[in-house]
Amino acid sequence: MRAVTYVRNNTVEIQDRPVPEIAPDQVLLRVGGAGLCHSDIAIIGMGDDNPLIGSTLGHEVAGTVERVGDDVRGWSPGDGAIVALILACGQCRECLAGRDNQCEVVYPRGALAPLSPGIGSPGGMADYIAVRAHHLDPIGDLDPVAAAPLADAALTPMHAINTVRDRMTGDATVVTIGLGGLGHLALQILAATTGSRIIALDTDPEKLAFAREHGADLALASDGEAADRILAETGGVGADVVFDFVGVQPTVDLAVSVVRGGGAIRFVGLGNGSFPYTAGSGTPLPWGVNIERAYGGTRSDLRQAVALARAGRIGVEVVRYPLDDAVRAFDDLHHGRVAGRAVLVP
Ligand SMILES: [Zn+2]
Ligand SMILES: [Zn+2]
Repeated sequence: MRAVTYVRNNTVEIQDRPVPEIAPDQVLLRVGGAGLCHSDIAIIGMGDDNPLIGSTLGHEVAGTVERVGDDVRGWSPGDGAIVALILACGQCRECLAGRDNQCEVVYPRGALAPLSPGIGSPGGMADYIAVRAHHLDPIGDLDPVAAAPLADAALTPMHAINTVRDRMTGDATVVTIGLGGLGHLALQILAATTGSRIIALDTDPEKLAFAREHGADLALASDGEAADRILAETGGVGADVVFDFVGVQPTVDLAVSVVRGGGAIRFVGLGNGSFPYTAGSGTPLPWGVNIERAYGGTRSDLRQAVALARAGRIGVEVVRYPLDDAVRAFDDLHHGRVAGRAVLVP
C-alpha cells in the first residue's frame, strides 16, 4: 500500500509498505480521508535527528472498516469510522476521570505529545491503518473525507470551548482569532452551541466573509486597530473569553490586551508568540485571568464534534488532494495556500 512517509527534515515521500496485519483487538480501516495539519508541518521541520523520521504521518483519519480482529465486537466490514486523536489507554487515573487527552500511559512526562496516529504510531496518510477497536467512533453516513478533520480540527476547538463553557453565557462576548483549519470550525461550534456574542478575527478578507456567513456577530481584520475595536465593542471592559488559534506574536498580544479581568484565554495555535508572566505586577494580564495551554481533546469532545457534523450544524471546508499529491499538499499548506482543511484521499 501507499504511505506518506516522513523521510528527513522538511521532506515527505510516498513509499510502498505492506498492508498492516491486525491483532485480535484491532480493526483494519480502509482510509477514506486523512487531514493535513499545521502540526504535521511542524513535526517534519524538527530536524534530522527527530525520532519520528521513517514514520507514516496523519493524525486526522476516517474511513471504512475492512476487516476486524477475532476479539472485536460491535464493528463490521463496511462501517464508517473515525480514529481518535489520542490513543489513550482507557484505564489510567486521567482516562477514568474523563481527561483521556492527558492519559498518563501514552503521555508520560516530558514526551513531545501524547501518542497519536502519525505521532509515535503509524498514521492515516496511507491506504490502510490498523487501529485498536476502542480507538474508533462511528461516523454513520458522513463522508470520511469530510469527517477526517473532525479528529483534530474540530476536536481541539471543541475541547478548548468546553473548558470555558460556563463563561459563555448569553451576555458574554467571545473573541476567536484565526479562521483556518481549526478556527473555521471553532467559529461554527461557538455559533452552534453558545448564545454568546462572537467576534471573529483573521487577516484574510475571504475568511472574514466566511465568518459572517457562519455565525460571527462581528468579523474584524486582525490588525493594529483590532484591540481598540474589541474594547469599544465591550464597553471598555474586554472579552470574557479569547481563543487564539494562531499563536504568533501579534495574536498573543491581542489576546492579552483584550481579555477582561477575570476572563479566560485558550492558546491553541502553535505560533511561538509569548508574553511576560511574572508572579507579581510585571505582566500585562488583568487580575483573575485564567489561561490554559489547550491540547487535543477527549473522546467525549470527539463525540460532540461528530454529533454536530452528523446533524449538519458544523461542516469542514475541505480541500481535496489525491494521496499521490501529498507532497504538493504539504507544500500548499506550508505556503498558506489552503483555505479550510486539506484532506488526502487515497
Ligand atoms: Zn493536528
Ligand atoms: Zn490512560
